[in-house]
Amino acid sequence: MTVVDKHKYPSVHCGIVQAAIILLTLDQHPAAKRYSVTDAEVLIKEAASPDRIGDRQQGRGFHYYCAVRPNGTKRDLHPNIGCYQNGRNDPAPSPLTMMHSEYRAALTLYRAGRYPAAMRSLTRALHMLADICCPPHTAGLTYYSRYAMMHKRYEGRAAQLFWAERVPGGDSHAIARSWAAECVGHVPYSRYINLLQPSVQDQNGKWKQGHLTLICNRLAESGADELPALLGDDESARDASIIRRLTLSIIHCAAMLAAFDRDVDDLHIPTWQEKQAYWLCSANSAVAISESPLYLRFYEDGDLSLSTADGRYLAVTQFGRLIVTKDTRGTVTRFRFGREPMLTLYPDGDVKRCVAWIRGQPHVCKRISHLLGDLFLSQIACLLTRKKPEHVHFLFP
Ligand SMILES: [Zn+2]
Repeated sequence: MTVVDKHKYPSVHCGIVQAAIILLTLDQHPAAKRYSVTDAEVLIKEAASPDRIGDRQQGRGFHYYCAVRPNGTKRDLHPNIGCYQNGRNDPAPSPLTMMHSEYRAALTLYRAGRYPAAMRSLTRALHMLADICCPPHTAGLTYYSRYAMMHKRYEGRAAQLFWAERVPGGDSHAIARSWAAECVGHVPYSRYINLLQPSVQDQNGKWKQGHLTLICNRLAESGADELPALLGDDESARDASIIRRLTLSIIHCAAMLAAFDRDVDDLHIPTWQEKQAYWLCSANSAVAISESPLYLRFYEDGDLSLSTADGRYLAVTQFGRLIVTKDTRGTVTRFRFGREPMLTLYPDGDVKRCVAWIRGQPHVCKRISHLLGDLFLSQIACLLTRKKPEHVHFLFP
């Protein structure tokens, strides 16, 4: 089997994002004006970050969203939340959960004026979307399975097809533009609505999937049609399949870029805000962390901190522990929403490991070893709320 080394070329992720940005312009979509030259540079440059060794989102199996087995048979949706699972059969972190939290983080950061940080989060969301469009990632052809060579063959050829065979000798803009030109008029703008709408539980406890989950599930399932071309020996059939999926990635990434442009101005979409008072209380509303409100602060690199006005009470360490301390005065502990490997609050997570209900959405916290202080519970459902809780026991003043 001849396998082209994908590292011979720039990451296809960067090309897909560059083509998606150009496509907005070619489509004469108003969202094209949202992204400055600097924004576009960050989006393109950082598009492959989640694949980089040592990156917080890089890891064995996390970029897989397994809708089918390599033989094409359908896999089950997670019973609680209606999503597919990652390459390790866990519901999170998966491309869907990471996309969801990065998209939300991007909106939050953009509204706080942290534009480069917002673009870095947004392009991570685009990365996950492109991975879901990539059949090896949705049929579980992991690097540590016996299908590893087929996966590598696919990606190496995709890089070659994208960068080398389109506009020989052309620069990245010319190449990306040629891909974008073929996608004009095919972007599913109207499907990218209510992206942060959470999955909800009905009276029988059954989960109804959120909109983004449905989009991702359909994309992942459609990858099964490409399996014969992916695994077979017919090179021209495989090339045609790769081109179809690259095009699909570009049009979906363009749709997400357009959705972001719309959502960032839609103040009905809840995002975290600075200078807003929050209280963290248990889901049954019996206990709240502190009587003094907590404030979020955003940093240029996308980190956040949550503390009282004088910097006390809630500290989240980078070791994955949620620690409630009586006195962290003078120290600011940063964390991230929905980011690995620090505190990870996954929207739509496995409810069995649910640690937080935030705006009606269950979040799970992985790698949380224990909670210290007066809150000594291995798992706790919490609510970060804007309204000061009443009739509760405050752990701290
Ligand atoms: Zn990836």
